[in-house]
Amino acid sequence: MIMTTIHSNLQTVRQRIATACSAVGRDPAGVRLLAVSKTFPAEAIREAHAAGQTAFGENYVQEGIAKIEALRDLRDRLEWHCIGPLQSNKTRAVAEHFDWVHGVDRLKIAQRLSEQRPGGLPPLQVCLQVNVDAGANKSGVPPEEALPLARAVAALPRLRLCGLMAIPEPAPDFETQRGLFLRAAAVLDRLRSAGLAVDTLSLGMSADLEAAVAAGSTMVRVGTAIFGGRPGAGNADSR
Ligand SMILES: *Cc1c(COP(=O)(O)O)cnc(C)c1O
Repeated sequence: MIMTTIHSNLQTVRQRIATACSAVGRDPAGVRLLAVSKTFPAEAIREAHAAGQTAFGENYVQEGIAKIEALRDLRDRLEWHCIGPLQSNKTRAVAEHFDWVHGVDRLKIAQRLSEQRPGGLPPLQVCLQVNVDAGANKSGVPPEEALPLARAVAALPRLRLCGLMAIPEPAPDFETQRGLFLRAAAVLDRLRSAGLAVDTLSLGMSADLEAAVAAGSTMVRVGTAIFGGRPGAGNADSR
């Protein structure tokens, strides 16, 4: 059997997750791999799916929908996550096409998603983005405002609040990075103590997934380590 690059990259990433889990005594089954396919063609996603990958993340709504359409034949077997910052003029497209949204940080956006989620589809699964390092101009709800927002989002009929996502700035060392991720984990604990049924921590990317797993991540979002480098990566991603 010939193994493609994407196939062997996926194996390498799964192995990294397994190693990171065993370093902290976690069951690797508790960490899902989200393959971030932004900027890569539908055929690359097809290839990853042939290698056993089912969950895919896209940042740009129109680009993501074009791939969802191109891969219609696999729709029942793929799970599509919208992971980019979300503007209100894009909520309808997201509500109609995606299974998950990770970048929600305002009630108004959540309300629109709930109103616009088609009745024939299951509730849209949502992670609130929390801003754990108070970076200027960054998306995400401040940690101290996460609980009231989570309560309001959990009450919306067509959404299911699953947990939190965060994108801390890259830190120079493992312990600092883990410390930033732990702030998100602490917010999740607070939501749970308040009685919310949340279990998802969407934390970690290609460069820092080990620190995220050590901090309790249940879903790592990995692009480069699976699909390769993106043209202009670094600033093209921030939109
Ligand atoms: C691009 C992106 C990723 C994946 O980043 P890599 O460094 O390529 O693994 C994860 N999460 C978000 C929100 C992204 O925009």
